[in-house]
Amino acid sequence: MAKIFCVANQKGGVGKTTTTVNLAAGLAKIGQRVLLVDLDPQGNATMGSGVDKRSLALSVYDVLIGAASVRDAAVLAGPCGYHVLGANRELAGAEVELVELERRDQRLKEALAVVDADYDFVLVDCPPSLSLLTLNGLCAAHGVVVPMQCEYFALEGLADLVNTIKQVHANLNPDLQIIGLLRVMFDPRMTLQQQVSDQLNSHFGDKVFATIIPRNVRLAEAPSYGLPGVVFDPAARGSKAFIEFAQEMVARVQSM
Ligand code: ADP
Ligand code: MG
Repeated sequence: MAKIFCVANQKGGVGKTTTTVNLAAGLAKIGQRVLLVDLDPQGNATMGSGVDKRSLALSVYDVLIGAASVRDAAVLAGPCGYHVLGANRELAGAEVELVELERRDQRLKEALAVVDADYDFVLVDCPPSLSLLTLNGLCAAHGVVVPMQCEYFALEGLADLVNTIKQVHANLNPDLQIIGLLRVMFDPRMTLQQQVSDQLNSHFGDKVFATIIPRNVRLAEAPSYGLPGVVFDPAARGSKAFIEFAQEMVARVQSM
C-alpha cells in the first residue's frame, strides 16, 4: 500500500519542489518505489526530474479531468529512479474545469487508488497556494510534509497552513495529519535561524524532523541539469541530508 504525502506550504520559494524531488530520489536510492506527482502548473518538479514538461503526451491535468489513468500518464525519470506524473501550464486551466466536475476535491485520490499497489511512496509537490489543486493533494494524502525556512514570518504562515490542514482533516480527509516540519535552507551561523529552530522544537516537539537540510549551492544548481541534487552530486552536503531525510521518512512511516 502506497503512503501518500503532500509537500505543502502556501508560501512560494520555501523549498517545496527541492524537497519533493530530492526526497523522491533519496527514497528511490534506498530501494523504495516512488511516484512523484507534480501539482504545480509551473512544472518545476517535472523539469527538475529531467522530464520535459513541454513534450508530455499526458499530464496530471488529463488525470484530474478523468481523460487518462495514472498508469498511462506517469513516466519513468530514468536517472532518478522514480516515476513522474508531470505538469505543465495546461494544469492552470484545470482549476476552473474542476469546479464543474463531481467530487472535484477527490479527483486525485480516486486516480491514485488504481496504483496503490505499485508504489511505496507517492509524493505530491503542491503549488504555492491553498487552491483546489492543493486541496486535491490534501484530500489524497495520509500526511503533509511542510518545508520551512527558519525565519520570523515563517511561523506566522505556518498558522494558516495548520488551520487549513485541521479543516481538511475535520471535513474531508480524516486520515490527514502533519507528518512533520522540515527545516530547509538552514544556515547555523545565523542566530535568528537557530532561535526560530529552537522555537519550532519547543512548540511542535516531535513533529519537527530531526534531519535539517542545509543551504547548499549544489541543490540550487542541480535543476538546471534536470536532476535532483541527490542524483546530480550525491556527495554534496545537501544531498547527504536528503538521503538522511529519506531514511527518517521510512522510519516515520513504519511507526504510523
Ligand atoms: P518552492 O517549490 O517552495 O517554490 P523551490 O524548491 O523551488 O521552492 O526553492 C526555491 C529556490 O531556492 C530555488 O531556486 C532552489 O534551487 C533554492 N533552494 C531550495 N532549497 C535550497 C537549499 N537547501 N540550498 C540552497 N538553495 C535551495
Ligand atoms: Mg515549487
